[in-house]
Amino acid sequence: MTFANPFEAPGQWLKANLHTHSTQSDGDTTPAERALQYRDAGYDVLAITDHRTVTVLEGEGPEGLLVIPSLEAHPACPGASVYHLVCLNVPADFEYNEEQPAQEMIDGVRTAGGDVIFAHPYWCGHSAEQIRCLDGLIGVEVYNATCTKIGKGDSSVVWDYLLAGGTWLPAVAVDDVHRGRDIFMGWTMIKAAERSTDAVMSALRAGSYYASSGPQIDDFRVEGGNVTLRCSPVREIHFMCRCSAGRCFYADPGEALTSADAELAPSVGYVRAQIVDDLGRRAWTNPVALG
Ligand SMILES: [Zn+2]
Ligand SMILES: [Zn+2]
Repeated sequence: MTFANPFEAPGQWLKANLHTHSTQSDGDTTPAERALQYRDAGYDVLAITDHRTVTVLEGEGPEGLLVIPSLEAHPACPGASVYHLVCLNVPADFEYNEEQPAQEMIDGVRTAGGDVIFAHPYWCGHSAEQIRCLDGLIGVEVYNATCTKIGKGDSSVVWDYLLAGGTWLPAVAVDDVHRGRDIFMGWTMIKAAERSTDAVMSALRAGSYYASSGPQIDDFRVEGGNVTLRCSPVREIHFMCRCSAGRCFYADPGEALTSADAELAPSVGYVRAQIVDDLGRRAWTNPVALG
């Protein structure tokens, strides 16, 4: 399976936060105010994902912002803490039943027209096995801003375990904003045909996006074994591959990198890029299979 390359796909870039809380659950801001916060900060897409309840804005939300009714579900995970499943594009009358096994919950969301992203695995302590047993996920969170409060915002190691084991999922970055500093820290740049729910959900299912907590990726291409990346100034560029394979580039002190390229053997399995800026903020492309 391969993902759509957002740097080659036609369409427009949309800045999205796909994990958001409001006063409908344990957030400190009403849904309408939350939507305005994101619209005014330049976002194009917002999924409001309150715990256990679908939040639907009255009207269509503020002009310039696409709001996708969604919820965060918490079915049991045998032998571990409950799952946190971000269920996107869920109808207002969706019947949430926490007694359902996780797979039934996912199937129910999909039957209702929605899609499910696996939230903050590092923070939950979920292993790759506890994720890959679930069928029908369209992504996993590689970065979750609110989880940085306990130093567990970056789930990229869990993501690599999934990829190395053949569970081929793209990854988003999100705020999971509740209150305080956890806002505008993690976002997903989606390449979609237009700013509509259908086009955004279709791009998410295709993996046509990259994730960021700061830097910008301008291009990422893999042709044969040749990998190239262009980005905003950063201090590190990593080409991450299966297990022990990969290539990294580090800027000299006081300098910055804005591009890298490498020749990779098919045996590396896959390649995804991640970059790190001077403030330690990161951006992550989705993986491309090699060989
Ligand atoms: Zn959660
Ligand atoms: Zn949440």
